[in-house]
Amino acid sequence: MNSFILGNEAAIRLGCFFGIFLVMALWEIVAPRRPLTHSKKTRWFVNIGLTFLNTGILRLFFSAGAVGAAIIAESRGWGLFNLVALPGWFEVLASVLLLDLIIYLQHAAFHFLPLLWRLHLMHHTDLDLDVTSGARFHPLEMLLSMFIKFGSVLILGTPVVSVLIFEVLLNATSMFNHGNVVMPKPIDRIIRLLIVTPDMHRVHHSVIIREHHSNFGFNLSWWDRIFGTYRAEPQEGHLGMTIGMANYRKQEELGILGILAVPFGKRARSR
Ligand SMILES: [Zn+2]
Ligand SMILES: [Zn+2]
Repeated sequence: MNSFILGNEAAIRLGCFFGIFLVMALWEIVAPRRPLTHSKKTRWFVNIGLTFLNTGILRLFFSAGAVGAAIIAESRGWGLFNLVALPGWFEVLASVLLLDLIIYLQHAAFHFLPLLWRLHLMHHTDLDLDVTSGARFHPLEMLLSMFIKFGSVLILGTPVVSVLIFEVLLNATSMFNHGNVVMPKPIDRIIRLLIVTPDMHRVHHSVIIREHHSNFGFNLSWWDRIFGTYRAEPQEGHLGMTIGMANYRKQEELGILGILAVPFGKRARSR
């Protein structure tokens, strides 16, 4: 199983990435949720440029990624799941759930710890939301996030297949829940019982402080409900709300170099 996964890892990742990206990009053209307020060309250039930059930097520092950590843990018998004998399906399911919980807690920490907020703030400076916003993260946040995931996988002894499932799922749900797409309310309500929908995550990108400090989940919607950070709708409605941060409103300041400098600027102090 591991050799099949490793042999086809790039194909699995790229196939899912391009497949979901295409579906979401087309959905946004056919049925957009909100009219875009800023130049899509400029935003896409920035967000896609960051995707390439982040992929390159992560490869440089963590060449084998979190899957590599799972292989190390398995070959040396490290981590919780390598110490106890549990059914394979249970280990895979429990690992994916635990990794998702860790990502939720990490996201909340990036909001509430001032130094981490400086890095994460850049994700919130996007002036519109669409499929490309899901990749808009500062390289330093990506590195820190990979470091936490790498450590978590070693401590948990996560099965190799779980790490790949989790990363592919997170990538897919991140593109999905940043999508600027119309989804009928009854369908949104049903999907939201399990995973974060675009309407749920959009609340997290509101310019209103108490709204952007809520809905931290990227994948499963349960954690926000369990930990009391769930907010169903934005106060101004999905069409009336303003997306972004109150003190970063000029698109001309939010080019690639501009947003890479966000964590180091004076304005990054306020939350
Ligand atoms: Zn956030
Ligand atoms: Zn987001």
